[in-house]
Amino acid sequence: MNPTQSLIKYLLVDLNSFFASCEQQDNPKLRNRPIAVVPMLADSTSVIASSIEAKRKGVKTGTKVSDARKMCPGIIFIEGHHKRYTEYHHKIVQAVEEICPVEKVLSIDEMACELIGREMIEANAIEIAKKIKRHILQTVGDCLTTSIGLGPNILLAKMASDLVKPDGLVSVPVEKIGQTFDHLPVEIISGVGHNMKRNLNAKGFHTVGQLRALSPQQLRTVWGGIVGLRLGEELAGRNIPRAETVTKGMSHEHVLPPQLRNPQGGIEILLKLATKLSSRLREGNQKCKTLHVYMKDQYGLDSLEESISFSDSNDTFFILQQVKKLTKSGAPERPVKVGVSISGLTNANEEQLSLFADPKSQKLGHIMDAINKKFGANTLIPAETLDVVEHAKVRISFSHIPKLSDEFE
Ligand SMILES: [Mg+2]
Repeated sequence: MNPTQSLIKYLLVDLNSFFASCEQQDNPKLRNRPIAVVPMLADSTSVIASSIEAKRKGVKTGTKVSDARKMCPGIIFIEGHHKRYTEYHHKIVQAVEEICPVEKVLSIDEMACELIGREMIEANAIEIAKKIKRHILQTVGDCLTTSIGLGPNILLAKMASDLVKPDGLVSVPVEKIGQTFDHLPVEIISGVGHNMKRNLNAKGFHTVGQLRALSPQQLRTVWGGIVGLRLGEELAGRNIPRAETVTKGMSHEHVLPPQLRNPQGGIEILLKLATKLSSRLREGNQKCKTLHVYMKDQYGLDSLEESISFSDSNDTFFILQQVKKLTKSGAPERPVKVGVSISGLTNANEEQLSLFADPKSQKLGHIMDAINKKFGANTLIPAETLDVVEHAKVRISFSHIPKLSDEFE
């Protein structure tokens, strides 16, 4: 390879308005129209995803439904079809893989490919990107446009993909980092949220260029931690291998349907959510040490919030016992939202002798997982959750991509 050629190490595919585009793909009447995907059809909720047409009127993720209606008269609201989005996700990953192996799925609508050998020559990388775009449109659906970023590492490829939407293709080899990003505001760096932006601005940093002028060590100080050090390296165009993301905790929450807005209904849903979490723990070969539950009424005036720690466990029945203990006193009269989270995750292979572990009960958990995997979710469930089997099914969050064998709403 000619050393003067521009090289690209990563290609990042980002689907445009993903959930909304899936809806437009499935229903031709929605194409070229402003639509918004919402969790439920109610004025009090917020938009999960809006189509390109709605975005042009300012409707974006997080916009309240009532505001969206004012900003964009004629907007069409659609209740999300999460199972469809997951199906599209898997089809898209497959389509990309037919052109170039996917190294990392970053979220339900983002994936990164590492380029090797001659693929790294910028002109070749751009060809690969064009092929991927075309292949998705042809094999998955013509509403599924993408923005692709090319860069020396995942962070810069992601930032490049954000520059042109919809249907963008931006290439930023190392030597173009400065001219592409330095004049832009700090919040275009992925991972810089509202608080970090305010924090950086308060310290006098407004543009990417100001941050890039610092050494990684200085940036570490400005940022207040090791993340700054990594960011400094990445903004300079170096590729730091990322440690596998360690999951620190997991949570599920659920808005209760009207008929379950009573203490018993809320507790049963909590038990169901805890059943799901313990099965996710076993699937990831993990255990947890802390359990946290909450139940809230509509206004957060009457609520229950309790935690408990124990020697680590992933035993469904043990965890359900803990949920019952925590909810014994003071469940709100009319709970509307309930949630369970677990933390202090440990590797289940590191055997820790526990006074509480019941080997029979643990074995039962594993058998339950195996049967549900083979015959479908909820074939076998704890008796306590029998009444609410139809509720609290999987919802997609951007970081947890369900498998198709999961149970969907
Ligand atoms: Mg996207």
